Amino acid sequence: EKAGIDAGGTLCKVAMQTEKGWVYQSFPTKQMKECIRWLNTHCVHRHLCITGGKASIIRAKLKRQDLTLIPEFSASCAGARELLNNEGHTSLGDFILTNVGTGTSLNHVKGMKQEWMGGTGVGGGTLIGLSGLLTGVYDYSKLIQCAEHGKRDSIDLTVARIYEGETPPIPGDLTASNFGAASAESISPSPADQVASVIGLVAETVTSLSVLAAQKAEVKTVVYIGSSFVDNSLLQGIVTRYSRQWGLTPIIPEHGSFCGAIGAALS
Ligand code: ATP
Ligand code: MG
Repeated sequence: EKAGIDAGGTLCKVAMQTEKGWVYQSFPTKQMKECIRWLNTHCVHRHLCITGGKASIIRAKLKRQDLTLIPEFSASCAGARELLNNEGHTSLGDFILTNVGTGTSLNHVKGMKQEWMGGTGVGGGTLIGLSGLLTGVYDYSKLIQCAEHGKRDSIDLTVARIYEGETPPIPGDLTASNFGAASAESISPSPADQVASVIGLVAETVTSLSVLAAQKAEVKTVVYIGSSFVDNSLLQGIVTRYSRQWGLTPIIPEHGSFCGAIGAALS
């Protein structure tokens, strides 16, 4: 029996295989002590496989001999395959795996192998950090709740607004400039509007990169994972719509934030 741990920059995710299916748990990486205590109570009889940027810190604190370190990208890709299989996407071919964690990474998943295609520093950390600087609120669930009723049109500039009355060469509803409509003259937007625009920036950045990666890799499916999608219907919605506009099939698996931990547990 194994347990997989994905210790990322923001959250530490744990996945355990049981007769009833996968059991999940997560902790803020800043509260490492709590995570170690939980692992020492719930995973004593399990072999632990650890991945993520903070894997060796966890290993040092656990003081156990039976620990295996797993490379992050192979863990998340293996975990994504497992989750997609469980969700009924059985005949899925190759795809782009876009992991929107603290930062964002893109992999081309080919069979059981993967190739890193790059990434962007715009990710879930940007969602919290930039929203925090704008509104003073740095709490993830408060921010996504706040953004739910936010409107982007006083902050973001669409293509249609630049082409006023003319026929634009590309769809008018695309964002021409994130935050490009903000100015000293316009009335200051509400915190809800500001956070919605930050989420729009993150969503459109990670989707644009995914579209280009999918074109380069000649695949039609993009699988989006990472905790940035948790309870975040705004991010999910923009990413889904924008991917479809480009003729791609987006998949955002439930529990996609646990891909790394699942992949580690299966290794
Ligand atoms: P990385 O892979 O880049 O090292 P990570 O693995 O820690 O980072 P994830 O756990 O996939 O990253 O995602 C972290 C992001 O998810 C945060 O930046 C935030 O936007 C969002 N998030 C979701 N739930 C929470 C939470 N409870 N606390 C803080 N952030 C959360
Ligand atoms: Mg991660």
